Amino acid sequence: MAVKMSRKSFDEAFERLKETYVIYAPKRFPKEGRYVDTDVVRYGVVERGKEIVYDAKSDYPAKEVIGPITETLFYFTDDEYRERKTDSKPVLIFARACDINAFKRQDRIYLENGGFEDSYYRKMRDRISFALMECPDKGWDTCFCASMKGNIVEDKDYIFGLQLEPETVKVDIKKGSLEEVFKGEEMEYSVPLVTENSRKVELPVIPNKDIQQQVKNLDLWKEYDKRCLMCGSCTIACSTCTCYTSYDMHYTPDSNAGERRRISASCHIDGYTDMAGGHTFRSTAGERMRFKTMHKVHDFKKRFGGEHMCVGCGRCDDRCPVFISFSTLINKLTHETEKLTGGSK
Ligand code: SF4
Ligand code: SF4
Repeated sequence: MAVKMSRKSFDEAFERLKETYVIYAPKRFPKEGRYVDTDVVRYGVVERGKEIVYDAKSDYPAKEVIGPITETLFYFTDDEYRERKTDSKPVLIFARACDINAFKRQDRIYLENGGFEDSYYRKMRDRISFALMECPDKGWDTCFCASMKGNIVEDKDYIFGLQLEPETVKVDIKKGSLEEVFKGEEMEYSVPLVTENSRKVELPVIPNKDIQQQVKNLDLWKEYDKRCLMCGSCTIACSTCTCYTSYDMHYTPDSNAGERRRISASCHIDGYTDMAGGHTFRSTAGERMRFKTMHKVHDFKKRFGGEHMCVGCGRCDDRCPVFISFSTLINKLTHETEKLTGGSK
């Protein structure tokens, strides 16, 4: 069932939703952007419907709801520890199709990794439902979700979908109990999925280990030794990057009381692969770019099956301070791989 309602009626429905859910959505944080006097759009708890930023792609992904840049896992003293307290109220996230798919990719890593589950992720994940936000016809200029199948969601993936305009709101209700929440005029509406982007990506086909080794040695990676700053901005803004490190913070220098924190990490930055004894894997920017790229469009799928890790949200391209385009890199990689294979698959 779908309904059309005024913005005022939607805001009232939003108040009813809040009785059941903690609601996260993209919201504007004034003057917290990268440049002077610019805003940033990122996920946060929203108290009123009008806080939701609908007409722009968020600068940072919905993954921040479940994996913030830093979070406390547990508290410890000399001889005992206590996990952090976790709220049990259900969580509703207003998300685009790519962000919903990004959660599915993260599930593979946090919940299906060799039989181990990340209990902190699991507790939060079990509370989450999605509201699917309609995208512009072809997405935004850096999106390539259609190439990565990040554009496709099924009815079971969200409890309602919506088109949020300044005056009117259309809601496609997927969960029966929400018919009491959204009161409006019945109509035909379902969220149209993006089927094509302006930016298109061809994915590399690497048929065997021999070609994989040759791909590893391509000169193309060396270009990034000069260009990439190894700042990690692309991975922090990435919908699907999951790497983190942990840090024990002692409350005073001479006490063993403190807390263990999980902190986002990045394969691009110094220190990520440092080992005891001083060895470092992948010390150059090009090697790090290769590692990330292969993970996003080859290694993840080889390990877990299903889709590639990258959902084509394009946030890495949006955030890179030196305008390195990941989608362009994938196309270059595919071109070079085809030269190695003669185009065979
Ligand atoms: S690699 Fe780039 S396009 Fe792909 S999911 Fe991450 S941020 Fe989005
Ligand atoms: S690709 Fe861009 S955003 Fe990513 S680490 Fe390099 S310079 Fe930073």
